[in-house]
Amino acid sequence: MDLKINEIFYSIQGESSYLGYPCVFVRLSGCNLRCRYCDTTYAYEEGSYLSPKELFEIIGSYKTRLVTITGGEPLLQPQVVPFIKSLLEKGYQVLVETNGSLPISVLPEGANVVMDIKCPGSGMSDFMCWENINFIKPTDEVKFVLTNREDYEWAKAVLKKYDLSKRCQILFSAVFKELKLKELAEWILKDQIWVRLQPQLHKIIWGEKRGR
Ligand code: SF4
Repeated sequence: MDLKINEIFYSIQGESSYLGYPCVFVRLSGCNLRCRYCDTTYAYEEGSYLSPKELFEIIGSYKTRLVTITGGEPLLQPQVVPFIKSLLEKGYQVLVETNGSLPISVLPEGANVVMDIKCPGSGMSDFMCWENINFIKPTDEVKFVLTNREDYEWAKAVLKKYDLSKRCQILFSAVFKELKLKELAEWILKDQIWVRLQPQLHKIIWGEKRGR
């Protein structure tokens, strides 16, 4: 079944443990959330329908085995699941970036989930599907995008409550131009918590440029 696609582009993966690798990004249209700091508002509506065959042709034109499925919120389109299965069958490494508000249990075992837990500073933390924590695999990653100290404390409490640092990789990133990475780094070191501080590498390289 066709998928509504906002954009496909080839770039450097700027986040997650795959940070720095060349990757094809498939951005699906539509999002059920409205985060205060959203940098992909263009993905809410814009897009056109492409068949899996057309998508495979585009993806296959790049020399990488890494594909990131992102959005918007990709899980809003259920037909993404068989598409991800087909990518895995073709030998691709697939990262699925999801906002955490929809069940991740529908995803195939082989996909690497990078799931946000929305902090209060996003304005969307009430929409989190907490059941998802039960389906996190050791190969998955949970990401907190932090706006301020309150978000940081909130995230630490969530880590403690679910013992999350022992279950998967934890990513802490700072809202671009709002929370300084240096400040966040110092909090992490002072508190000695086991999380990975990540910059948004693509923004360091290209700034806030679409398709990067
Ligand atoms: S989940 Fe992502 S795409 Fe949706 S509003 Fe939040 S930041 Fe934007």
